[in-house]
Amino acid sequence: MREKYAKALQVETLHTIEEELNMSVGNGIECIFCAIVNKQIKANIVLESDGVVAFHDINKAAPIHLLIIPKEHVANLNDASIDNSSILGEMLLTARELAFQFGLNESGYRVAMNTGRDAGQTVFHLHMHLLGGRHFSWPPG
Ligand code: AMP
Ligand code: ZN
Repeated sequence: MREKYAKALQVETLHTIEEELNMSVGNGIECIFCAIVNKQIKANIVLESDGVVAFHDINKAAPIHLLIIPKEHVANLNDASIDNSSILGEMLLTARELAFQFGLNESGYRVAMNTGRDAGQTVFHLHMHLLGGRHFSWPPG
């Protein structure tokens, strides 16, 4: 797992995953998702618009696991405001578009946004998970 992140970050390191994801790793990269937006690190991008980027999650929790992020850095939903309404709408509609593109619209899918410690947020750049290709239980663990 750590090797996987290190590979994605193109660094050799002994830092923890949290350090990798949230701290500078010596390349001037302070936010891993900003680095993906700015093409400083590679991601398997499936869609890009003026406002959002969507790519495969590096550690997938379902057969289809995509992340949809705004290009502008917002840490999480706590930091969003009315000024972000349009991008939040675009993120949700992008999830819908990708669900159709990846053939999940009939079988079903889940969109999720983890916010803060109790939700297990690990990357502090707003993102929406689009998960599909298997059954999900409810309530979530
Ligand atoms: P969260 O736990 O909601 O903060 O989700 C962060 C997600 O980002 C996790 O599912 C990670 O597997 C994923 N992730 C972290 N780094 C990368 C990366 N470089 N490329 C793709 N996905 C990543
Ligand atoms: Zn960022």
